[in-house]
Amino acid sequence: MPTPSPNPTETLTPLQGKVALVTGASRGIGAAIARRLARDGARVVVNYSRSLEAAEAVVKDIQQAGGEAGVVQADLSDLAQIRAMVAFALATYGRLDILVNNAAIADFRPLDAIDANHFDSQFALNVRGLLFATQEAVRHFPETGGRVINISSGAAQAASPGASVYSATKAAVETLTRSHAAELGPKGITVNAVSPGLTETEMMRAVITPEVEKAMVGQTALGRVGTPDDIADVVAFVASDAARWITGQAIGANGGLR
Ligand code: NAP
Repeated sequence: MPTPSPNPTETLTPLQGKVALVTGASRGIGAAIARRLARDGARVVVNYSRSLEAAEAVVKDIQQAGGEAGVVQADLSDLAQIRAMVAFALATYGRLDILVNNAAIADFRPLDAIDANHFDSQFALNVRGLLFATQEAVRHFPETGGRVINISSGAAQAASPGASVYSATKAAVETLTRSHAAELGPKGITVNAVSPGLTETEMMRAVITPEVEKAMVGQTALGRVGTPDDIADVVAFVASDAARWITGQAIGANGGLR
């Protein structure tokens, strides 16, 4: 029997009909993910906390490319704002299928300089915000299921001096990923983490010195820093139906960082 040829529209827009919410999508990796999911046909909610102009520019890019997107302000370290963000997605697009938990902060300090605020602010966003965004979003996923994609970091596995609290938040993200995958699997929801290595963004420039960058590039197989698009392409695959059998995984997107 001849293999049916793929429907060209489905191939070009595998996320047609889906609605995706991307947290921290005004800049860096989140902005690239928002643009990429929109290119694949999803209607995209672009969340930001402070960078309104940048978030609006992402929405404009998507619209100019023929896609659909809306912008919502929410500081995800605040539970009420998380709820309002999800409510905005539902009120605007009537459904929610994909949550990308990307928003995070990174603050590197040696052990002796760590105080309660350094610890609490990173855990409040990177872990608590991710957990409650997942809780609120999946309550509204369709009965057929959906996708939760958590942006972790190679730091979850690495031993980097000064990065202990940030690394611990990302290790927690990977643990939550496995737990939520087990819990939400029966509802047809897959939960995976994508773990970037060094990626060219404002966050990277703020915390990585040129010496550390050189050393880390030397530890990759492909010999360069990643781009936000390198990460967005992996997220788009995990969001697609082609990744339906993958759940509870932390997928390294790091050029072969050893
Ligand atoms: P980035 O350039 O600093 O961008 C961070 C994004 O998060 C911005 O859109 C920012 O929005 C948003 N954000 C910050 N605080 C927020 C809050 N309280 N509530 C909601 N949104 C908030 O960071 P990035 O490098 O693209 O990192 C994106 C993800 O990749 C993070 O999870 C990070 O840990 C991970 N990662 C990055 C690298 C890297 O080398 N860059 C490596 C591994 C993993 P506003 O500007 O509006 O505040």
